Amino acid sequence: MQARIVLLPGDGIGPEVVAQAQRVLDRVAAKFGHQFEFSTHAIGGCAIDEFGDPLPEQSLTACRAADAILLGAVGGPKWDDPNAKTRPEVGLLKIRKELGLFANLRPIQVLPQMAAASPLKQEIVAGTDILFFRELTGGLYFGKSGKETTAEGETAWNTMIYSTHEIERIVRMAGQAARGRRKKVTSVDKANVLEVSRLWRRVFERVMKDEFPDVEFENVLVDAMAMHLIARPTKFDVVVTENLFGDILTDEGSMLPGSMGLLPSASLGSSGPGLYEPIHGSAPDIAGQGIANPLATILASAMLLRHSLKLEAEAKAVEAAVDAVLSAGHRTKDLAAGGVSVTTAQMGDLVLAALN
Ligand code: NAD
Repeated sequence: MQARIVLLPGDGIGPEVVAQAQRVLDRVAAKFGHQFEFSTHAIGGCAIDEFGDPLPEQSLTACRAADAILLGAVGGPKWDDPNAKTRPEVGLLKIRKELGLFANLRPIQVLPQMAAASPLKQEIVAGTDILFFRELTGGLYFGKSGKETTAEGETAWNTMIYSTHEIERIVRMAGQAARGRRKKVTSVDKANVLEVSRLWRRVFERVMKDEFPDVEFENVLVDAMAMHLIARPTKFDVVVTENLFGDILTDEGSMLPGSMGLLPSASLGSSGPGLYEPIHGSAPDIAGQGIANPLATILASAMLLRHSLKLEAEAKAVEAAVDAVLSAGHRTKDLAAGGVSVTTAQMGDLVLAALN
């Protein structure tokens, strides 16, 4: 296969972790006989410094023409001035919008060898393997909003709005993903109170019954889900939900494995390239020290192989290599609990060796 991959390293530790993921992708290409062509472009704070724009036109043009995009992270104290003309995060929001990336996928796995790192009891979290689908371009964050001042004081409002089409397309993605997993989809809503959730539930049930008769499905109210996620996380396979609920639940879920340094994510649209990134930020406190954990970005590259390039065996090989390195006891500083640790580049070396 020939594929064009755009790298957007960004700020802070972004370039350090993306460099390791690129080495892994290069090794996958060599091992499995593919050709990956990489080009690197600016996003975030470094793009503001160089071009005065957190997502310069040339970066966007390259992304549109790519098969997939691998992003590090953006932001840092240098660009935090609230009076600044623009901010690094504007680049992230813009790329998602411009590429129509409406589905955010977040796998949350607690590998048995990492269960001790969780803030929850090992017997509750061990074996957790959830794939979240969060709707990313609709709902409360994009509905009409406003504010007014009356004699009684200030009022402000936001509206949560979804169309049948927006619900159908993300439910279909979740159903398809479930087919390749344990064949169960949980939809999270607040149908006992919200009209928009009642529509969400009707559409979800129709799509699942008509198009995925082989996949089991259930509805869970968002307040109950917040409890189940920490009490019974192993009960869930694929979870699909709207933007606001997904924002909150995926952050809650990201605490199950105990370290952000291990969690990847993907943002996908109906067509065009997907965007893959670690869920952590630019970690300015450790940037430049060579100690950042590259595994979340390496696992994001495995998602890129799976979802954009349809290279399932290659994706599994990368995940197995990460698994093997962790099982052998290797840890970067964030996971070492004060014990012996390896550097960012050494962790990359270990994954490459395991891939062989
Ligand atoms: P952060 O995720 O960057 O860091 C939180 C803590 O986790 C820090 O102590 C950091 O050292 C540690 N950490 C994060 N990733 C790590 C890794 N791979 N290896 C080892 N340790 C790691 O969150 P923050 O400190 O709240 O934000 C820093 C900057 O990143 C801010 O400017 C924020 O806006 C930005 N940010 C960007 C994204 C993104 O690009 N998608 C996401 C979140 C935050």
